[in-house]
Amino acid sequence: MVNITYSVGKNYSRKDIYRILNIPREQQGGNWDTGYHRYENDWFIFANINTKGRTGHDYANRFIGNDLEWYGKNRSKLSQPSIQSFFNPAGKINIFVREDNNNPNFTYVGNGRIKEAYDTSPVKIIWRFDDPNENHPEILSEEVTHPERFVEGATKQINVNIFERNPIARKRCIEHFGTSCVVCNFNFFEKYGDLGKDFIHVHHLIPLNEIGEEYEIDPIKHLRPVCPNCHAMIHKRHPALTIQELREMLK
Ligand SMILES: [Zn+2]
Ligand SMILES: [Zn+2]
Repeated sequence: MVNITYSVGKNYSRKDIYRILNIPREQQGGNWDTGYHRYENDWFIFANINTKGRTGHDYANRFIGNDLEWYGKNRSKLSQPSIQSFFNPAGKINIFVREDNNNPNFTYVGNGRIKEAYDTSPVKIIWRFDDPNENHPEILSEEVTHPERFVEGATKQINVNIFERNPIARKRCIEHFGTSCVVCNFNFFEKYGDLGKDFIHVHHLIPLNEIGEEYEIDPIKHLRPVCPNCHAMIHKRHPALTIQELREMLK
């Protein structure tokens, strides 16, 4: 029985996983390379995300907020034993994603649980990530209220903060801008030590009325790290204050 914890947001190649689990060479490759593989009680899912249009099919794995919309192998069905075992997993369902097929590194996004499953082929599953033993900083940003809403398609209302909860976009924003608030410069690690390490909200800059259906988030153009206080103040006005406006008020 292997009980290994991977760090949310950290990068791992398949080789790293083989090394961590001590997988003998002759058992490497195969199913490990084709999407999902069970090892002892744990599942390992390696998914490419945001590849719609690039890989020849018209669906793609992607984050919607902090849930992952994911498709099984080409002819997969909901009734297959492997897919069924996702509903009542004996162990963890370790999910790793990457945006670039040529990058050997995947980012660990967490121990997934099924939120919704669709009886399609390939099977479509919405994964949620709420393992209390894992550190998911993106979940906390929901505490900031976002009363602004926009309509996706004709019927579906989605809260705008889905853009602020996307863990991969969030990670790229923080890698670029760091974890200090861009308004007041507050840094949780400096103030709280290890407890505050990597903690920060991200704010989505683009006004909702400028977002069309084909909108794709650019983490560096569209997201900024902000502390929860400044984040709450930004959203206190509707439409939201700009970063610059709030900075000037702070003086
Ligand atoms: Zn701040
Ligand atoms: Zn915001």
